[in-house]
Amino acid sequence: MTLLEALRWGRGALAGGESPDIDARLLLMHAAKVSRTTLLAFGERPLSTAERALFEAFIARRQGGEPVAHILGEQEFYGLALEVNPHTLIPRPDTETLVDLALALPAQPLRFLDLGTGTGAIAIALAAQRPGWQGIAVDAVKEAAELAKRNVARHQVAVTVREGSWFMPVRAERFGLIVSNPPYIDPIDPHLGQGDVRFEPLSALIAEEAGLADLKYIIEQAPAYLQAPGWLMVEHGYDQGARVRELMQQRGFGAVRSERDLGGQERVTLGQWRDN
Ligand code: GLN
Repeated sequence: MTLLEALRWGRGALAGGESPDIDARLLLMHAAKVSRTTLLAFGERPLSTAERALFEAFIARRQGGEPVAHILGEQEFYGLALEVNPHTLIPRPDTETLVDLALALPAQPLRFLDLGTGTGAIAIALAAQRPGWQGIAVDAVKEAAELAKRNVARHQVAVTVREGSWFMPVRAERFGLIVSNPPYIDPIDPHLGQGDVRFEPLSALIAEEAGLADLKYIIEQAPAYLQAPGWLMVEHGYDQGARVRELMQQRGFGAVRSERDLGGQERVTLGQWRDN
């Protein structure tokens, strides 16, 4: 079986799934340890027995619903390969909207805080793009904090990972920017029973009060940890923008606005904190 034949077979095996073409290609690239270019240019190269067995095993796992990121053990985010595992959310392209927005702030080199960092995706992307910035990334889940540490080491960025709930590990510290992609899905949302999210931890996905509880807590507490004028930037659900803007305004944030994700939905809201 050649690379090209394997690719066709894989696509067929995953037909009816969410993204058979991309999934089959990524799984084959990893099973045969080839780049996308090699796959396109040398499609006639035969697979070894071991490569073929591995690819078939990958396809079978994907047919069972497992996310590609879990099968490969990694996911790309903002051009960086990040290790992932079932203890955290799989980084999403929509979250790159938050990173873009943070990078567009008129900010000097600053200290930033990433709450509920998971894989470390947001903090690592920011630090990779802004070598002068210093990040603290926090996660309450031990395995997530350990994973984030490995990703920081892999990319050699100026991020320190601490384990603990929300602001607990940064008592008495101040930041120019606080970012977070907290859990924000309503616990009764039917999407939780569909697709890749079934394999992600609920601790990273759901929050009480129709998904708003953690966002509320972060917005309420953030001013005590911001160095004025500092920014708070949070990701939220597609239908939570108005409510999150209102929460920030009520708390005393200024310049509050939301940004849309790649799908055109309001996904990130930011506000500025000034003293007085
Ligand atoms: N955007 C993700 C989803 O809809 C959820 C991310 C989160 O809860 N922070 O699956």
